[in-house]
Amino acid sequence: MQNLIEQIANSITNSKKTVVVTGAGISTEAGIPDFRGENGIYRKLGEDRVMELIHIDSFRRDPERFYDFYRKHFVYSQVEPSKAHYILAEMEAKGYIHSIVTQNIDNLHQKAGSKNVIPVHGNADNFVCMNQQCRLIYASEAVLHQDDLVPRCPECGGILKPDVVLFGENIYNYMDAQDNILSAQLIIVIGSSLTVYPLAGFVRAFDSFTQDLVIINKGPTYMDHAAKIKIDTNTTGAVLEQICRLLAQ
Ligand code: NAD
Repeated sequence: MQNLIEQIANSITNSKKTVVVTGAGISTEAGIPDFRGENGIYRKLGEDRVMELIHIDSFRRDPERFYDFYRKHFVYSQVEPSKAHYILAEMEAKGYIHSIVTQNIDNLHQKAGSKNVIPVHGNADNFVCMNQQCRLIYASEAVLHQDDLVPRCPECGGILKPDVVLFGENIYNYMDAQDNILSAQLIIVIGSSLTVYPLAGFVRAFDSFTQDLVIINKGPTYMDHAAKIKIDTNTTGAVLEQICRLLAQ
């Protein structure tokens, strides 16, 4: 593994633009289970059921049922970033990485201090008023303590929706995410099986003549065959720490 870590550090040193792509696997060390892993809700409840529950049509039809489920599984405001999040923030501050494109909704990259974060599935720490004339956005601590199961807009009384992309909705920052990934010289994927589109599609469109792909993930991903370097690990924080140490030498 040491040899692979050295190769990654060399690739970063030689890259003019390095973009990191993160998925749920970077946050499991912080205590948030991924969907597909052993403790994930896809395993416990089944993928079809989860997809139906967190679909925008279900939210519109029955917000009580949606929030009953959402509050049990998706409230991350008390969770702190892991070592991996902090090291990525440090790597950005030192100029080693350009940006992070993330599928995560836990806001942990931003909490750890990363500045150039492109979240494509939104931010579970925020809530947006569904009243089209209002559309105010609130931080979770301002609204989640309300007595009602379904939080309401303090301004207009409209129903609040978590500011995350539900099934059936368009992703956020589509162009920005695509541009960042396709213009990178080095793409480092961390903690994603590269299953979820369209982000997985941006990575799958990578160009092996002009770009290098590095994957740090527990278990297989859909792009392992194309990766210049693949590290199979469930301690991404420790791996990134070693990479960062080598870069500093
Ligand atoms: P995924 O479930 O497809 O893949 C996660 C990958 O991370 C898996 O291959 C798993 O083996 C790997 N992994 C798990 N723990 C790891 C660890 N400690 N170190 C390294 N790898 C580890 O996740 P995905 O591709 O991100 O897609 C799931 C969808 O669910 C995304 O759309 C995301 O928005 C959402 N989601 C987000 C969060 C979050 O915000 N933290 C959590 C769960 C799901």
